Parts: sequence; C-alpha cells; structure tokens
Amino acid sequence: MDRVTSGAEPYAYPPHAHERRHGPRGYSSHKEYRRWLEDDFIFRCVYCLKRMVWAPTDIWTVDHIVPREEAPELACEYDNLVLACQFCNLLKSSHWVPDPCIAAYGSCLRIGVVTPLNRHGRRLVDTIRLNHPRHVEERKKTIRVVRILARHDPVGFERLMGFPANLPDLTTLRPPAGNRRPQGAAECYFVRRNRGDLPKTY
Ligand SMILES: [Zn+2]
Repeated sequence: MDRVTSGAEPYAYPPHAHERRHGPRGYSSHKEYRRWLEDDFIFRCVYCLKRMVWAPTDIWTVDHIVPREEAPELACEYDNLVLACQFCNLLKSSHWVPDPCIAAYGSCLRIGVVTPLNRHGRRLVDTIRLNHPRHVEERKKTIRVVRILARHDPVGFERLMGFPANLPDLTTLRPPAGNRRPQGAAECYFVRRNRGDLPKTY
C-alpha cells in the first residue's frame, strides 16, 4: 500500500495503523535510528503531524513508545521508536500513548480543534496536549498558508507540502545487526525520488 498520495492535507492523521517499512537493528543509541524513522514516518512528527520541511531546525527526536524506564530492553528496538518533534517528545515523556503501528491515529482523532473519537484519541489529546492554544494557533496558521499557496503559488505549495530536499539514502546505511525488513530501503523516498516516482506533495 502506498501511503503517499498526491492530495496534500496538512493535518490528516493516517487512516490505517502505520506499517513499518524498515527494520534496522543493532545501533547502540536510539538516536542512530533517526534517518530510518524519518523515512518510515514520512518526515513528520507522528503525534502533531508537524513536518520536517516546516521546521528544518534541530527539533527532531527519536521517541520511545514504551518508555525507557518501563522497558529498558526496548530502548534501542526499532519497532518501539517513532519520529517526534521535541515538544511532543517532552510531553509524551514517560506516559503511555497508543502505538501508531497498532492504533490508526486517524480513527482516534479528528483534526481542527482536535476531537478525540475514542479512548486512544482522548489519551493522545491529553498527553500530547494537542488542543493547547500553541498547537491550535500553529495549525490554523499552517492551514491558512497552505490554502493560500494552493490557490496562488503552486511552487510554494509544493515546497510546503512536499518532501524534504535532503532525503536520506537508506541503501547506503549498514545497521550493525542487519535489517529485519531489508526490502524497505530499496523503496525509500530517496530511491523513489531518483526513480522519478515520488509525488510532488503528500
Ligand atoms: Zn510533534
């Protein structure tokens, strides 16, 4: 299933549970998995959907779904890691939130002022404070800008809703203990861009 579509929505939570495409193993620090996670989670924060192209500064972190204190053995386990902005990572902290690979966030949350649709959604809204005025204001601003660009500035629209310029080439990375989903790297977004089949926006 191709989760990247040409219809670009700035804040649409995935309608399906995330299916990981990569499975690197053996890095000694969770931070070393970041480039894999960037590609796997399509260059945006899994919780608030902020995109890396909107904030190309050093706010991007690797977050543990099951907190480290609770399961130190999962601290460097790829399937326990997600890409998150530092603000969400800080709020998530040692709290429990649903795993996006098990619960489809799109069935838990509706964006706007974020409406929780079930108990997982309530958990996410409360823990990540998705309705904090800062989040709400930022979303409104982004949505406004995206709409204006869509109408008047197609190039600007593509820049805002497209992929980062510096996509990681995962085929060159060699995880110390191999890769349990090796076929994913051959289909990473870097390869797809070179092949010419990457949509302009997502
Ligand atoms: Zn975030």
